[in-house]
Amino acid sequence: MLQPSTLFTEEIRIYQEHILNYGYCPFCNRNLAQGENVYAGERADGYISVACESCKDMISTYVKKIVYHPKEYDVPNRNVPLWRYQDFPKFVSLLDCGELFFTRADKFEDVFEGARGFNFQKEAIYDKLKPSLTLKVKSQLRAAGIENPTDDEVDKKLIEETEALLETQWKKRKEYFVSCWHANERESEAMWKLYITAKKQGIAIQTTMERLCYSIGKSGFEVGKVKYISYDVPLESDAEPIWYKRTAFSHENEVRAIFREVGNCLEGMSVRMDLNMLIERVYISPSAPSWFAELVKRVMNKYGLNKPVEYSRLDEKPIY
Ligand SMILES: [Zn+2]
Repeated sequence: MLQPSTLFTEEIRIYQEHILNYGYCPFCNRNLAQGENVYAGERADGYISVACESCKDMISTYVKKIVYHPKEYDVPNRNVPLWRYQDFPKFVSLLDCGELFFTRADKFEDVFEGARGFNFQKEAIYDKLKPSLTLKVKSQLRAAGIENPTDDEVDKKLIEETEALLETQWKKRKEYFVSCWHANERESEAMWKLYITAKKQGIAIQTTMERLCYSIGKSGFEVGKVKYISYDVPLESDAEPIWYKRTAFSHENEVRAIFREVGNCLEGMSVRMDLNMLIERVYISPSAPSWFAELVKRVMNKYGLNKPVEYSRLDEKPIY
């Protein structure tokens, strides 16, 4: 078991542990229930942990009480290897700044980021929203002194409210900042091809779910598995679209770290990371010349990053 980075504040460390144990108490292994209190603090041996109400004595200092709300995404196991394939300049930038770039959700190539369904399902989406919006519209009309509104009056206001809600949801994509990782036990030829264009040299950072959580220098983040769906029916009105993607992207097997920040007009956010915690291994892209591997090692050395550098297994010669 790793110890969370001491580079960051106690609040961040507690948050990191909370995410890793999301959904259950690590002492009694019991699944948590909606609205239940969870306590986070230091155990007697100095490790940070969370505990349920009946196990809270296992924590010597309660630093934070958190109310548990189940998430709609799954939290990966703490040992799941996570990969990020990138070109060399991006890797050097990560080492130089010690910051990981989180892209604003509306800036991704995939226009379905934050989408509830297809445009042709608009009617079905309206129908799903109708019951709750009708109640809202009627109370608005009553507040405006219209006690018994006609159907036309309700319908007109309903259309306005629906359009306004869809507009808000569209804008909400600008409030999410995302870092994408590929979950896989081993390196992936498809990912090298996707992220490192032919004849260029690149690397893959390999971390784990636990390392990723412990290295993020910010509280309030969430890390979870993306759900791949067909969108044959649009998402329910209470679903968070940021955790869903089309099945055509399922090869990405994505785990994403997300922050939400309202009113930030930047196209992305750089977040301080503990790189020694984050990076477990660095892999050199297939067919890269040996001088490139040496360069990667020298640069890592310059930045004090003492981690194993592995050659891609895809370069190994076969035996017949
Ligand atoms: Zn417990």
